[in-house]
Amino acid sequence: MIVDKVATRIDLEKCIGCGLCVSICPLDTLSLKDGKAVITGTESLLCGHCAAICPQSAIVVDGLDPTLRCETFDEQTEWMPFGQPDIQKLLQLMRSRRSCRKYADKPVPYNILKDLVKIGISAPSGSNVQGWSFSILPNRETILELGMQVVKFFKNLNRMAELYPLRMYSYFFGKDELGQYYRNYYSRVKEHIDAFQKNGIDRLFHGAPAAILIGGNPKNGGTPQEDALLATQNILLAAHAMGLGTCLIGFVVEAMRRDSSIKKHIGISVDDDIYAVIAIGYPQEKYKTLTGRKPVNIHYFNAKEK
Ligand code: SF4
Repeated sequence: MIVDKVATRIDLEKCIGCGLCVSICPLDTLSLKDGKAVITGTESLLCGHCAAICPQSAIVVDGLDPTLRCETFDEQTEWMPFGQPDIQKLLQLMRSRRSCRKYADKPVPYNILKDLVKIGISAPSGSNVQGWSFSILPNRETILELGMQVVKFFKNLNRMAELYPLRMYSYFFGKDELGQYYRNYYSRVKEHIDAFQKNGIDRLFHGAPAAILIGGNPKNGGTPQEDALLATQNILLAAHAMGLGTCLIGFVVEAMRRDSSIKKHIGISVDDDIYAVIAIGYPQEKYKTLTGRKPVNIHYFNAKEK
């Protein structure tokens, strides 16, 4: 987000006039004058590139804390140079993360959930808006509270989908959404609702003891959905590294998208769209190997070598 108030302060005693901050600034807010960096522009992305690159630690951007103040582990605040992270380990982590659908009956400490959110916000965001919102459901009671609302939504949807005239109306005057739902999801959803209501089997959150909902307000500009999903991926990977299993719950996202009363019910602003719901808990799953992925098609534009 471009702001008019530049929060950058330069200690001229420390500045040696190398010009690195000037060349890295995406908005050309800094200039060199008489061998020192000075602020000549009026806009800032609050990205902190200038402070991060200064060899003299001469720049401070007010309001940007270099640490995330995670509570459950010690952070490293040195920048890792390009090529330094271990790509083998990184890829292994990415591929070892799997959707978890069996959780131990053990709560996830609140400070771990908070740390996961802090790790989430280290993701990139369009124009550095960082307009995401996070909601933590810290225990089974809150999960079930949300789950009941989602079940209510899908029971209503199933009732509508059962009606042939409504499906025909959707076919001729809409985009056949109700018909598609009926063909692809109706039976499975009915089965899962019955399993939950008759036997308490939780096929929605898979018995997870906690969840994080990630959203954003589209009115804030930028790219809220992309930003939320980038933060989501950070959280999924970090959770694996912290010994936690996760699963994205698309049915809850869909229900909250179509029925804003669910957001109201759990205290989320109706202006926020929810883009991801992550079930989180200690996994009761252990795998031996990685699995493969479907073949990927890559389009090469005018490439001479493939
Ligand atoms: Fe001065 Fe630091 Fe900017 Fe170099 S990067 S010009 S030392 S403020």
